[in-house]
Amino acid sequence: MTEKMLKFVTVEQRMPTKRDAEARVHDFNEIYEQFADREAREQAARCSQCGIPFCQIHCPVHNHIPDWLKLTAEGRLEEAYELSSATNVFPEVCGRVCPQDRLCEGNCVIEHDFRSVTIGSVERYITDTAWDKGWVKPFTPRMERDQSVGIIGAGPGGLAAAERLRRKGYQVHVYDRYDRVGGLMIYGIPNFKLEKEIVNRRAKLFEDSGVVFHLNFEVGRDATLADLRERHDAVVIATGVYKARDLHAPGAGLNNIFPAMTYLTASNRIGLGDRVAEYEDGTLNARDKHVVVIGGGDTAMDCVRTAVRQGAKSVKCLYRRDRENMPGSMREVANAEEEGVEFIWLAAPQAFLGEDETSEGAGDVAAVLATRMRLGAPDSTGRRSPEPVPGSQFKVEADIVIKALGFDPEDLPVLFNAPELEVTRWGTVKVDYKTAMTNLEGVFAVGDIVRGASLVVWAIRDGRDAAESIHSYLQAKAGAEQTAAVAS
Ligand code: FAD
Ligand code: SF4
Ligand code: SF4
Repeated sequence: MTEKMLKFVTVEQRMPTKRDAEARVHDFNEIYEQFADREAREQAARCSQCGIPFCQIHCPVHNHIPDWLKLTAEGRLEEAYELSSATNVFPEVCGRVCPQDRLCEGNCVIEHDFRSVTIGSVERYITDTAWDKGWVKPFTPRMERDQSVGIIGAGPGGLAAAERLRRKGYQVHVYDRYDRVGGLMIYGIPNFKLEKEIVNRRAKLFEDSGVVFHLNFEVGRDATLADLRERHDAVVIATGVYKARDLHAPGAGLNNIFPAMTYLTASNRIGLGDRVAEYEDGTLNARDKHVVVIGGGDTAMDCVRTAVRQGAKSVKCLYRRDRENMPGSMREVANAEEEGVEFIWLAAPQAFLGEDETSEGAGDVAAVLATRMRLGAPDSTGRRSPEPVPGSQFKVEADIVIKALGFDPEDLPVLFNAPELEVTRWGTVKVDYKTAMTNLEGVFAVGDIVRGASLVVWAIRDGRDAAESIHSYLQAKAGAEQTAAVAS
């Protein structure tokens, strides 16, 4: 093993510089700066090159982490990039948005005594450097194939499949109802976590490599699933999950109570230079308002931090469990707190109050009536169930309320006019886990529409693995067609 490694004993863990909260709340730019070359090499050199690398095992795409850390420590960055991009089509995105504390870094063996290797930041550094140096280039398949694949959804799942299939020479067509490529990487995740140019430059690379995008194309409206099956030799469903879970409480019909995606999409569109009437007239803009966000996941964290940046008067997050039991990443909670967000733990909304204080009234919301919660016995998943504390109601002033309670799948069999497509009782698409094929011959599914709301890196993994399975399927299909042609 090289002497360059194993520096965790002498070199302390360092993250890239985080911009000061005072400064960063005034813009939507990313909050972490890039590692300088020397820092990246030093941090990579902290890795102890484990024989059984738990970081790699717990990375959903099984990145060759110790190997590219070693190459980085040795300054062999082009090779590091080659290796990291072999397993991950969006390494610079994952380096930014993976909850590393729960995945690779949380399982780094030096985590306990010395604090883990900063794997995500090094991954981002390697790939950003590769872009800066011009090492990331459009690819040309070794051979062109006649067979085509139609992919519904240009999020990370669909794009990961598109990249792999195009590299193998298939004619790849990606259909998306949005006007831009990237799915939630564009319209969900805010700029301060992932600047949009990072996604756009990959989208352009795919286009330059021959992937054909059909944007503003909604399957269900512009074509049925059957139409696409007719047009292509295989179809991939990668549509994500978008149906917002709702809150049925008195006063829920008051004005200025929005689902998280309505609010975040408007903000992301403004960042992209689009005109959004509801933002311009102040409806979807938190400036000078008291904002209450309900929920404790990463989407809620994105909403509170967006509201801070829009110049809200106050931003509060209501969550029914406590800090230790929230689903959102601890790193994101800490960032939100630094930026001035107030968390009200163990609190759940009971009703929304209008200006006249009657919960059922019409007009604008003025407050959330909340109740204190305590954690009771564990439920079937092992999590302690929150239960209301009697007589503990309190009011939280609110000019805007944002509901970030999670997402469910849309009713795809109805939407796609394909009642024969099998879904689970949660509405996610049923697949054979070995092949990613649905119950319909030649129709595959990946990402959130199979797993339920998940992570970018899991969608990438699904898309990548499904591409291998689609390749086997299409080769077998081509072979069978050839045999039939010879026989006739
Ligand atoms: P999506 O990214 O949702 O892409 C699906 C695409 O399908 C969309 O472009 C959509 O327009 C298109 N589509 C849907 N229906 C149709 C149709 N009928 N016809 C044509 N096109 C259609 N994950 C992380 O790892 N880190 C984070 O920090 C993080 N932050 C998040 C923040 C927010 C606000 C949200 C909502 C999610 C976040 N996630 C995060 C989760 C992550 O974005 C998703 O798990 C991931 O994008 C799923 O990828 P996907 O390809 O399955 O679906
Ligand atoms: Fe860690 Fe995500 Fe990168 Fe895997 S893809 S190494 S989990 S940051
Ligand atoms: Fe290096 Fe940590 Fe991975 Fe071990 S677990 S190989 S120390 S990054």
